[in-house]
Amino acid sequence: MAVNLLDFDLDALAAYCESLGERRYRAVQLFRWIHQKGASDFARMSDLAKSLRSQLDGAAEVRGLLPIGELASADGTVKWLFDVGGGNAVEAVFIPEDDRGTLCVSSQAGCAVGCRFCSTGHQGFSRNLATGEIVAQLWFVEHRLRERLGLVAGERAVDNVVLMGMGEPLQNYGALVPALRTMLDDHGYGLSRRRVTVSTSGVVPMIDRLRADCPVALAVSLHAPDDALRDALVPLNRKYPLAELLDACVRYLDAAPRDFVTLEYCMLDGVNDGDEHARALVRLLRGRVPCKLNLIPFNPFPASGLRRSPRERVSAFARRLQDAGLVTTVRRTRGDDIDAACGQLAGEVQDRTNASARMVSRRAWSIIPEGEIA
Ligand code: SAH
Ligand code: SF4
Repeated sequence: MAVNLLDFDLDALAAYCESLGERRYRAVQLFRWIHQKGASDFARMSDLAKSLRSQLDGAAEVRGLLPIGELASADGTVKWLFDVGGGNAVEAVFIPEDDRGTLCVSSQAGCAVGCRFCSTGHQGFSRNLATGEIVAQLWFVEHRLRERLGLVAGERAVDNVVLMGMGEPLQNYGALVPALRTMLDDHGYGLSRRRVTVSTSGVVPMIDRLRADCPVALAVSLHAPDDALRDALVPLNRKYPLAELLDACVRYLDAAPRDFVTLEYCMLDGVNDGDEHARALVRLLRGRVPCKLNLIPFNPFPASGLRRSPRERVSAFARRLQDAGLVTTVRRTRGDDIDAACGQLAGEVQDRTNASARMVSRRAWSIIPEGEIA
């Protein structure tokens, strides 16, 4: 099969071009055509040497993901479902805000961590995405939206990327890092390190490696103030308990582009939302980890058997943490009318037909004709 150029960060593309006898500046040109202009057809790349274009033809391609559907929420959030073959699909969600556009990207089809409150976790693990499949989500959405919004050269649709879609990004480390580099590269998407966030359930050794290899903003999914409860909610905690995880967060901050770690805390009614949990969180975190807490109202799905904490409970919990000096915000839920909210991304692995029928019945899917993107 032809080499997928979306799998390469700039250094890898330069090495590939070198293997074809071309200099690095040719790779830079090619990289800019692909990522900055959204081109996939070598014939369009007018300033690229003919010799290189003819070498690329047949040997390489820019292979995006096939979007199976697109669903828009009343609040402006848009979700795309991408076919990744073998009956698997992954989702990416665009969340427009006043001052920026955020894209939530998937890193795996399914997830092996198996958190109790997460629909992706319930689905189990199918496979890692390749670098090109992670990048393809941004490549597609950025250029699709630029066209749709009529943006001119120099304007971009996505200026913030969060690895908070399906999968545990730090369990797909080898593919993740080149994808991050492409997002950050000035010849690629030119995103600021502070505006690319890796969210993890706590793969401690990989937090350390990320610090060395490609420090970006870090979010850690905490969800519990003690090991017993966290063991039950996030099974990975049995391998990397809280003390080790928080130490890794502190080490990470040495090299991080921000001076705090975001700690995500999904609010589950009667499970982790009591005053005693708030007090325990304060004892755990205060003076130990520079952090901002982000409380996420649980987005329910039938198989979880869990309920969202009532609104007043979430506010009372937030107030307790704030009064104790911990910076705390409550995440506004976006896109829940299209199952695009945190933890609702299921990719519809088995029942794509049913999913399509369901979505069509909501009159919101626009099915994109096959083959529209390479
Ligand atoms: N695997 C990574 C990133 C993907 S999950 C991680 O766990 O951090 C992204 C975020 O969504 C995590 O903070 C996760 O805890 C949260 N989440 C998962 N399921 C959720 C649900 N049903 N409701 C609200 N948030 C959820
Ligand atoms: Fe995986 Fe994150 Fe879901 Fe846990 S919350 S199952 S780590 S995707």
